[in-house]
Amino acid sequence: MSELSRLTGVGPKRLKALEAAGLTTLRDLVYHIPRRYVDRTRITPIATLREGDDAFFTCHIDSVQTPPGRLIVRVSDDTGSFELAFFRAARFLTEQLYPGRRLSVAGQVKRFRSLQIAHPEWEILREDQDPRGGLLPVYPLTGELAETRAEHKLLQKLALEALSSFQFSDPLSPAERSRLGLRPEVEALKILHAPESLAEVEAALAELKLRELWPLCLKRAQARRERRARGRRFPATPETSAAEAAVRAALPFALTAGQEEVLEEITTALGAGGQFFGLLHGDVGSGKTAVALLSAVRVAGAGAQVALLAPTEVLAAQHYRNMEPWLRAAGISTGLLTGDTPPAERRALEARLAEGSLRVALGTHALLSQGVAFADLRFVLVDEQHRFGVEQRALLTQKGNEPHTLYLSATPIPRTLAQSLYGDLDVLTLKEKPPGRVPVKTRLVPSHKQAELLSFLRAEALTNHNQVYWVVPRITPLDPASGRGDDIDSGGDEADAIPAIENAVKRLRAAGRAGENWTVEAVHGRVPAPERDRILAAFRRGEIHALVATTVIEVGVDVPGANLMVVEGADRFGVAQLHQLRGRTGRGSAQAWCFLLEPAAIGWPDETEERLRGFASTEDGFKIAEMDLLRRGAGSLDGARQSGFGALRFTDLLADADLIRDLGARAEAWLESSPAG
Ligand code: ADP
Ligand code: MG
Repeated sequence: MSELSRLTGVGPKRLKALEAAGLTTLRDLVYHIPRRYVDRTRITPIATLREGDDAFFTCHIDSVQTPPGRLIVRVSDDTGSFELAFFRAARFLTEQLYPGRRLSVAGQVKRFRSLQIAHPEWEILREDQDPRGGLLPVYPLTGELAETRAEHKLLQKLALEALSSFQFSDPLSPAERSRLGLRPEVEALKILHAPESLAEVEAALAELKLRELWPLCLKRAQARRERRARGRRFPATPETSAAEAAVRAALPFALTAGQEEVLEEITTALGAGGQFFGLLHGDVGSGKTAVALLSAVRVAGAGAQVALLAPTEVLAAQHYRNMEPWLRAAGISTGLLTGDTPPAERRALEARLAEGSLRVALGTHALLSQGVAFADLRFVLVDEQHRFGVEQRALLTQKGNEPHTLYLSATPIPRTLAQSLYGDLDVLTLKEKPPGRVPVKTRLVPSHKQAELLSFLRAEALTNHNQVYWVVPRITPLDPASGRGDDIDSGGDEADAIPAIENAVKRLRAAGRAGENWTVEAVHGRVPAPERDRILAAFRRGEIHALVATTVIEVGVDVPGANLMVVEGADRFGVAQLHQLRGRTGRGSAQAWCFLLEPAAIGWPDETEERLRGFASTEDGFKIAEMDLLRRGAGSLDGARQSGFGALRFTDLLADADLIRDLGARAEAWLESSPAG
């Protein structure tokens, strides 16, 4: 029996409609917050309405038209006429809305050919009825519930009734409440459901933001405080300086000024005392690995152990291939531990880690398993940190002695957001890219140009020694709530993508001519590991011209010879994901291209095309991140979800960044002054 059936006027039919709108408990109703309010104290003449206005007016219906899938209602008052549009629930509406009837209408004025309100909130009026009143809440679109004034009023009534019987448990102590100047939560919520003025709404919202942010900020402040009192110091010593010099001499390049700056910040923090906890974010290909490597040398060079966790075997193996010789140059021993490591080798590695003779451990999730123990792990690095859950990262930390931590992230985000989201971390940003990067040209390719594209790829590969990544999305449906597919995640079942992969292989192979050495291969989750490694190695050596894959070609994989990329089903990826994929190219000297192939027959919806054009127009990862944020909201960020900041109901991570920072400072001050802390 649903809790809601106890509420006045809620019968089986209503209950079903509420359920369809996702409202099944008292809590749901209480926290079902109006998205705006209609000011019904004043009636606006139609002639004075402007785009963007929150309009409230009375009118008569002149005509009703029903073009396919729509209902267009023309209305007028003494001053002018106006258009109302509905895109669903047509039958109920045509029964109610017909020429001659008098209405009150409320909603936001948009421009669409002419001025219009789509899905207005409306009420049938008697000829002499005065509809003016106070502020009326407008609730979020709610499934089958029609957008009528009566429905919003009913939701308001139910919310108020729910408020009076819902048992609030206040997580804040009375002391915290009075210090923060907060009323009981129920009072603030009551205002949101039935305000007398917009100023009152502002104040109530501010309180509710404080309420939801405070515990998170306090937790962060607490964690910061604890870290200040922990962790071994790693100042520069003759030994670490010699090790660093040896590694620098072995590197095939000199660090950029940006890399030096960030490295300096990290090593200073490692030497300063207190447990370092940093997030290094920078675009794909910005050279985070070298910074990670040299900061690791500070710790490993002092005789302690370092672990670097990577999300995939491919990436872990690549790090090992690169780093092992450089570290060896400094006399630092390095091992690779992944799911593919043979048991005997694994046991040997584990023994050396446990006794401390192995200084740097690179690996995948295998590093987290129970058998792995360290003698003196002091520094944990996590590459592509968003690919790991909080618990997974914590597992590695627990294997260490108050280890310092550095997360690497290739999802650049605007600085204000980084600070509100990662307020408990030191955020380090790598802006510039290493020299010699070729800009990637990105093009949208209409499906009828596919043959042309294929012959271009073949010619580039055969005459210019360029190589091709051909990316096929998994068919995993997009999650409508967040707009994300989990297509970029590793693991999981890729079986759905196999037909599309095979199809692409066939098309690519067919582009070759008889007797030509034109090699096309595919990797996906069903290709056995040894075979996959063989293919990837051959691709790296330039022996394979085109590699078809899902996003198995991981973020971070570095093949300088591959500077052509084709993405099928680009609409299934967020622009930030596309950016990461595109970042595979442009690492060599040849011109790099990224082609977004339009699906045959269906084409792209306008909105998708616009988004992809925006993506094609820039290579600035920070700009692209902002595009993504605007579309999906900051709460969709992995960091937000993991930190608890994704579930915020009242706070907007971007808009309220300053508030979050201020609260962080208040939380620190609170801890300083409270005797228990
Ligand atoms: P990401 O930030 O995506 O992890 P990487 O660390 O993999 O980037 O670096 C991308 C490429 O740039 C690698 O091939 C690396 O060797 C190269 N690279 C890094 N730093 C420099 C530099 N200072 N000068 C020249 N090349 C560099
Ligand atoms: Mg990387």
